[in-house]
Amino acid sequence: MIVVGGGPVGSSVASLVAGFMRTLVLEEHAEIGAPVQCAGLVSPRVVAMTGTDDTVLNRISGGVVHFPNGVSIELNGKEPKAVVVDRRAFDFKCYEKALDSGAEFILGAKYCSFSKNADSVSIESRVEKNTRILHAKLLVGADGYKSCVGRDAGIGKPRDSVRGIQVDIDRRLDDQNRVHVYLGLKLAPGFFAWVIPCGHFTRVGLCVSTGHDAPSRYLPPFLEKVGLADAERLNSISGIIPIGPPSSTYADRVMVVGDAAAQAKPLSGGGLYTGMVASQCAARTAIEAYEANDFSIRMLSKYQERWKSEIGKELDKGYRIRKVFLRLNDNKINDIGRMIDRQDVLDILSQGDIDYPSMLAPSILRCLPSLLKFSPQILGSLLGR
Ligand SMILES: Cc1cc2nc3c(=O)[nH]c(=O)nc-3n(C[C@H](O)[C@H](O)[C@H](O)COP(=O)(O)OP(=O)(O)OC[C@H]3O[C@@H](n4cnc5c(N)ncnc54)[C@H](O)[C@@H]3O)c2cc1C
Repeated sequence: MIVVGGGPVGSSVASLVAGFMRTLVLEEHAEIGAPVQCAGLVSPRVVAMTGTDDTVLNRISGGVVHFPNGVSIELNGKEPKAVVVDRRAFDFKCYEKALDSGAEFILGAKYCSFSKNADSVSIESRVEKNTRILHAKLLVGADGYKSCVGRDAGIGKPRDSVRGIQVDIDRRLDDQNRVHVYLGLKLAPGFFAWVIPCGHFTRVGLCVSTGHDAPSRYLPPFLEKVGLADAERLNSISGIIPIGPPSSTYADRVMVVGDAAAQAKPLSGGGLYTGMVASQCAARTAIEAYEANDFSIRMLSKYQERWKSEIGKELDKGYRIRKVFLRLNDNKINDIGRMIDRQDVLDILSQGDIDYPSMLAPSILRCLPSLLKFSPQILGSLLGR
């Protein structure tokens, strides 16, 4: 099997499959984990799934949501709801785990194209100026949001995407327990901005949806707003989060996984948990296909059935809630802030699971049916009406 992409999802598929069949990962960069394109905020279960405890920078137990009118609501959990990881170290740990399982990697190898033969795929890759043709029974595209494997296999594009920018600031926040999320069309249209305490430094970033100015336009005023404009910047990153998987994430002898399949959570943009779950589904399907020597589209359709049964509902509901969010102007976002600022709703929100945010929707809507006015049809459908 050949996996294109040595990100966390590619390494995870490789580590799960390598014990069953020869597994080779092609990674276009010479170094694993660079460049970083992530805030590194994940649930503790992601760290448990990947064995990456020693990459944790901070543990987060609550959050503060800031509305455009300056009002904020606080959500306080009892135990850590999230952790911040050092994403470069996290990727490297996933890579080491795959190596330990017997997977082979070629770093600096760029996937160029593939063609199908009667009983294999031929993959053209380039290392510096040298072109090499490799053969495999199965090709897995874990090559991120621009997925060339997905494009070449005729797999559709994500339905939506957001563009992000982030800087690490050389300033320690007094409150290390809570993440701050800022909403508003002037700050981060179509998504949100964040301030994450990471111990001795602070991560500040935002994403905007398509059709707006570049995120770099929104960052300076946001840094000004949170009082961090003058602090030293340790580094800066940017990237794209694909949202809304295409209708098919597999083809004959091909599966796409993680950002290549737009499996990030539509409400938060987090793609590590969903990518890890999907990597397990892809690995299980690859092993079954290998044992049956059947890599047909029919056999690989099990991959999609599996990831849909694990995370499909969350991605679908999250996508529908995002559609409602995209229709809101700042006045309506403020209205929602006023409406949810009551103890029973805050208690529900505080119990939330960052990997399954939309699971809270039915309880909140039952507690606060007046929210349905923002989209009776879409929000009503979340109640199962
Ligand atoms: C600003 C920002 C903040 C984010 N914050 C979070 C967060 O806090 N929590 C969270 O869970 N998620 C977050 N995400 C999303 C998260 O980063 C992705 O979901 C995650 O990286 C997906 O992993 P992946 O392995 O599928 O893809 P990637 O990490 O993108 O890895 C793909 C790999 O494929 C390689 N590749 C690409 N093309 C080729 C080719 N042709 N040949 C060979 N190799 C190739 C790339 O070099 C890369 O190493 C954030 C994203 C952005 C942009």
